[in-house]
Amino acid sequence: MELRHLLLAYVLLTNTFTSSMWLIGGTWMGMSRKAASHWLRASLVNGLALILLLVDIGLPRDASVMLAASLIVVSTVSLQRGLRAFFRQPQEAGKQIRLTLGAVAFNLLLCLPLGLITLGIVMSCALACFLLLRVARDTRAALSREFRPGTAAASDTMLGITALYFASIATVALLGRLQPRWLPSDDVLLGVLVCASSGLSISVSFLLGYIVVMRLVYRLQHLSQHDSLTGLLNRRAIEQSLDREVQRLQRFGESFCVMLVDIDHFKRINDHLGHAAGDEVLRSVAQVLRAQAREVDRVARYGGEEFCVLLPHTDAEGALQAGERLRTAVNQTDILWQDELIGVTVSTGVACAIDPSEPLHELLRRADDALYQAKADGRNRVVAASPRRAA
Ligand code: GH3
Ligand code: MG
Ligand code: MG
Repeated sequence: MELRHLLLAYVLLTNTFTSSMWLIGGTWMGMSRKAASHWLRASLVNGLALILLLVDIGLPRDASVMLAASLIVVSTVSLQRGLRAFFRQPQEAGKQIRLTLGAVAFNLLLCLPLGLITLGIVMSCALACFLLLRVARDTRAALSREFRPGTAAASDTMLGITALYFASIATVALLGRLQPRWLPSDDVLLGVLVCASSGLSISVSFLLGYIVVMRLVYRLQHLSQHDSLTGLLNRRAIEQSLDREVQRLQRFGESFCVMLVDIDHFKRINDHLGHAAGDEVLRSVAQVLRAQAREVDRVARYGGEEFCVLLPHTDAEGALQAGERLRTAVNQTDILWQDELIGVTVSTGVACAIDPSEPLHELLRRADDALYQAKADGRNRVVAASPRRAA
């Protein structure tokens, strides 16, 4: 088997792999659909460009080379469009179309008839290099905001190496060391070009696949820890935080407090104004609690119309002050619902963990008893739990 056949098999294999990845990911699994469709196009077009260099399809040699150079620009623009779609950045579609059509026209209508093949290669590779550096710059901030800073660095490195690869081809061609007439006959030169291009294409695809999967993982993590109506932490997440605070108390003696906050007569709102009004009240109360809590506090929706606030590093006096602050803020908030202002109050039970031997369920029971007492005493108040009875 000739080297050329091996190279063709390698290109077909790698591009079938990356194209199937975007086809299955984008359509069947519905992952970042728009971005995946651009990356699928980038992978197919890039594969086609390499096949044009490897296979004689009956076109004149120069035409094949100019067509391949044009396809490289199309593929880079698709990569750029995919990244912009992924981060919901403006596409600048007009600019991209003008750039692509300009590069194709320059190669096929100017360089090809005039025999300026090297100029076509240099311009196409320089353009690909410029586009790659630009997309790296434009997506860096979004990447490090959404993922770890290491992911942004990996993307910079991959896009930078690919840009460097195109810059090297442009430089070598400019120095007259890459003559288009060598391409069909020089197997070693072809091998280097094809292996490097396919290797870079598959590495960039893996990097893009990684960020698509990581976005999915972060979203699932967020969904499993947050309440969909209010956006607050859910019961499972706050129970994990409470467990960690208990461990800290046992190990370092750091006391903490927990507040159970329940909306007063919430059922009446549902009964008189409807379930949707009740939902709006839940969202507004959640917003007030989150705004009033300290940065280190954790606020969760604990049940239907009941919230739980964890106050790390806090004593009973501080917790009562915080509870009073939350109660007053909710009391002073008017919730607008269909031209009507709804006023709500909350009752709060506060319990502090000081004894490392107290189990978590016992602490929550004390907070619940205090909440029950606040309701019995007339609602719209904060009641501190009685200290833990000695075992
Ligand atoms: P109290 O002052 O004693 O706390 O009285 P209450 O009416 O607030 O308490 P009760 O436990 O009688 O009613 C709570 C209501 O909360 C009953 C339930 O239908 C409603 N609820 C629970 N979850 C949701 C929700 O997600 N949305 C809405 N709109 N209502 C909910
Ligand atoms: Mg209630
Ligand atoms: Mg309740």
